[in-house]
Amino acid sequence: MSKLRIENVSRTFAGVHGGDAVKALQPTDLEVSANDFITILGPSGCGKSTLLRIVAGLDQPTTGRVLLDGRPVTRPGPDRGMVFQSYTLFPWLSVGENIAFGLRQKGVPTKQQREIVANYIDLVGLRGFENHWPKQLSGGMQQRTAIARALANDPEILLLDEPFGALDNQTRGLMQELLLGIWEREKKTVLFVTHDIEEAIFMASRVVVMTARPGRIKSDVPVDLPHPRHYTVKTSPEFSALKARLTEDIRVETMRTVEAA
Ligand code: ADP
Ligand code: MG
Repeated sequence: MSKLRIENVSRTFAGVHGGDAVKALQPTDLEVSANDFITILGPSGCGKSTLLRIVAGLDQPTTGRVLLDGRPVTRPGPDRGMVFQSYTLFPWLSVGENIAFGLRQKGVPTKQQREIVANYIDLVGLRGFENHWPKQLSGGMQQRTAIARALANDPEILLLDEPFGALDNQTRGLMQELLLGIWEREKKTVLFVTHDIEEAIFMASRVVVMTARPGRIKSDVPVDLPHPRHYTVKTSPEFSALKARLTEDIRVETMRTVEAA
């Protein structure tokens, strides 16, 4: 059985002030197996965030449905961990308290909360920063905290929406390796949205390419690069071949977006 099934999911937004309705996503089907690392790649405005928000239960599809472990998604839940591009830590909570947030809500005993938080603090390399405030952290550290917060709940699936989009290139590369390392060890199921082709290939077991708005799935490309994956794979012939193919796919779609504007 698939871990996640996206069945015929589309989304049309009602027009504002009587304006035209916005078709954001065409009917989309996607099956995700346990331990898949799916990256969703597509031009700006093609409906990537819309799709992810529907999987998260933060938005409702116009048609279709989403099944997680065979159960329909109707609202947000602890079985889905979400990380957004913009920093979404609670500013009034310390790093440790942010990571413990979901555990506290679930009523996990304090001692166990502390153990889990310590484990994820270590995993994302933030030991010594438990008592810092989010505003005292760099962007990369804030996103590491957000990833730790999402993982601490032990979600069935991790949903990430351009989580490294606001980071400088150097930090971004390190964060990619960090997340991939976590995935290799913890064997999580991941849905990761990006518009960066190299990032999409480097992270993925499958790259799903979307068309220009209203998006639908244009191609679904397995990535068989070996694990553990080191950043040097980015200069391998296999990587280059994938990059060339996906660059062409995306280029066509981006041209469509520009022409439509
Ligand atoms: P992406 O994440 O791929 O850049 P989005 O999913 O954010 O794209 O948006 C897809 C399209 O839907 C865009 O044209 C966007 O303006 C529109 N859209 C997204 N959310 C809303 C909303 N709440 N109301 C109206 N239009 C929206
Ligand atoms: Mg988006």
